[in-house]
Amino acid sequence: MRILVIGGAGYIGSHVVKSLLNTGFDVRVYDDLSTGKRINLFKQAEFVEGSLLDMESLKKALDNVDGVVHLAAKKAVGESMAEPEKYANNNLIGAINLLNAMTDKNVKYLVFSSSAAVYGMPQTPQLNESHPLNPINFYGFTKLEMERFMEWYDRLKGIKFVSLRYFNAVGYDEDGDILGLEEKPQNLLPVVMETLFGIRSQMSIFGNDYDTPDGTCIRDYIHVTDLATAHTLALQYLERENTSQILNLGTGTGHSVLEMIQETERIVNQKINYTMAPRRSGDPAKLTASSEKAQSILGWQPKHSDLENIIRSTWHVYQNTYEKNQN
Ligand code: UDP
Repeated sequence: MRILVIGGAGYIGSHVVKSLLNTGFDVRVYDDLSTGKRINLFKQAEFVEGSLLDMESLKKALDNVDGVVHLAAKKAVGESMAEPEKYANNNLIGAINLLNAMTDKNVKYLVFSSSAAVYGMPQTPQLNESHPLNPINFYGFTKLEMERFMEWYDRLKGIKFVSLRYFNAVGYDEDGDILGLEEKPQNLLPVVMETLFGIRSQMSIFGNDYDTPDGTCIRDYIHVTDLATAHTLALQYLERENTSQILNLGTGTGHSVLEMIQETERIVNQKINYTMAPRRSGDPAKLTASSEKAQSILGWQPKHSDLENIIRSTWHVYQNTYEKNQN
């Protein structure tokens, strides 16, 4: 099968490209390089620079394609509340263009990057796919809307999709094949790394008065290589079963913010300069996934997501960038 990976120069997308190439898929990457990086591209995959808002270029990129993995979206929760128009354009109009272009070019399979943000405030500590859907930020709303669009395009146009609801994506390719770092990261582990390498002088823990054992928030951190494998399995599933699915991807195990910082300090043998700060709005105390459905439907199992692996692989990529620059 030939697969078009939209957003294949991005953080998760580049890991997906590697997994697809290793499995023997023919891969074409479509990316506007707004946040994706050339350094993340694989020479075995064809690259087309283009935007989801450019319908002609998008349709051309879909020539002779059997399936699509769509990961090109904006993902900063805070920004989505301040500038919803950006998210409406990228995450909704862009993705609807894709569904229309796929209809036009008769491409039948779509793997979509969704998010735990579709659930909103958790009513149970561990969430399965039937948990109520009440996004509390515009980013989560865009992901949920696209799941609904895909359900309609399945019914009306026969496009079969697997929507993957990621929990907290972390880590880097352990072979060191993917080295692009995100600029101005907001997520916990990149912030910890930037503090470690002196890119920022200190970091904040957003709240230590939660109802958790150490008072800081608990999240389900899933290694990006495990996420990538799920995309490959999802395409194989679509080809085999021709049935749409919505699946959580997490480990089921939670780690607190403090645990992430202290485990990093232990592994790198260096102190991290952090202070306690007020809670960030919209943060639930504990959010972990039940991924039983992905396990039984795709035969997927997280294999890279122990904390040591997650932290070491991330540290190595930051070392590669910042220690090399200093020499
Ligand atoms: N967090 C933190 N300081 C930071 C960034 C994040 O304390 O500089 C906390 C955040 O409040 C949450 C957890 O780390 O409890 C994971 O946040 P992240 O933004 O990485 O992912 P989210 O769970 O919001 O998708």
